[in-house]
Amino acid sequence: MTQAPSSKDIVTELIHHGYQAPGGFSAPQPPVCKASTVFFPNVAAMRDFDWKDKSAYTYGLHGTPTSYVLEERIASLEGAQQCLLVPSGLAAIATVSLSLLKTGDEMLLPDNAYGPNKALAEAELQQFGITHRYFDPLDPADLAAKITPKTKLVWLEAPGSVTLEFPDLIAQVRICRERKLLCALDNTWGAGLAFPPFDLLRDGGSLGVDVCVHALTKYPSGGGDVLMGSITTRDQALHMRLKLTHMRIGFGVGMNDVEAVLRALPSMALRYHAHDRVTRELAAWSATQPGVVQVLHPALADSPGHAMWKALCCTEENPSGAAAGLFSVLIDPRHTQAQVDQFCDSLALFKIGYSWGGPISLVVPYELPSMRSLPSSSVKPGTLVRFSIGLESARDLRADLAQAFKAAFGA
Ligand SMILES: *Cc1c(COP(=O)(O)O)cnc(C)c1O
Repeated sequence: MTQAPSSKDIVTELIHHGYQAPGGFSAPQPPVCKASTVFFPNVAAMRDFDWKDKSAYTYGLHGTPTSYVLEERIASLEGAQQCLLVPSGLAAIATVSLSLLKTGDEMLLPDNAYGPNKALAEAELQQFGITHRYFDPLDPADLAAKITPKTKLVWLEAPGSVTLEFPDLIAQVRICRERKLLCALDNTWGAGLAFPPFDLLRDGGSLGVDVCVHALTKYPSGGGDVLMGSITTRDQALHMRLKLTHMRIGFGVGMNDVEAVLRALPSMALRYHAHDRVTRELAAWSATQPGVVQVLHPALADSPGHAMWKALCCTEENPSGAAAGLFSVLIDPRHTQAQVDQFCDSLALFKIGYSWGGPISLVVPYELPSMRSLPSSSVKPGTLVRFSIGLESARDLRADLAQAFKAAFGA
């Protein structure tokens, strides 16, 4: 349709053009609505606007139709009622701690928590007079013993980062309930697919965490090319408290990134189970390889916390459960760090790099002793190597690992 000639200068006309595309466009993906500025129909509407509900729009930082759609889908994935999007998984962790803690408060973290969560506590929160203590993730009694009148928030993670010990999450959340403490779960590994964080007993929600954070960077994005995080809740008052902090610190997300996650979300469950299947196969097989003294993967019967994983992640409908795409091995301490580095360097399909959830398999050696504050009897001494399994064929990945194990640690 052509427009009637306008009396405006073409410079203005190109900005204030009269054409409106017809409504009713419908396609598989929601449109990408990008904005910093959002228009109000008049000043009264601007003054009246209540940003607290998602009935309209105020400013790009607080969302557009595109991010509203992703928030609803992530809330459904986690079994939550409300969702906030933030620019990374770590930003989700930081928002929760900044929002729920003040000077004089203390938070508890499992000793195997995601490293940057510990660094945030040690380097940033500490300077605001917010203290922290670490508890043994495999001993609920230790969590209970670390609680004091100062304790205001308990972080949980199932399984632990890098070492993948699976805690008794149900016992941990029960302790938090009994002591009337808020608990926040980093659910990046479970991803909303391995177990329902707000309904741990699968009875409709008699026991669940208060807040769930998820690095959408991992499985929801699935491409290794997007950073994003989510904060989900089932309590409107708690959501509002987090939302105010989120608004005041300005953690907006880019709509092109939101679109990338929306595009990947429909295939997430298929990808998660594909990663899971190959990971279990390679983890079990790795135990037979030269140099390996322990394999850490919660679905393996001798891995720390296996029974807890089984209790939480296996159901009648899905007896083999779900277990993501990560496993770690401990290399015999008689081998030098240089040999372990050589092992990682000699892998061809596995790339050296952080993160997980993408199509390409990754490997990282970790200096475990510097990452832990408490002694652990469940992880054997040795150099830890963590694998993130991508979507390549199991046979090719196994051949790559086999040649590297043999070259580095073979007789
Ligand atoms: C990756 C990760 C995060 C942080 O996510 P980013 O988007 O990289 O900031 C948080 N927790 C866990 C368990 C993770 O694996």
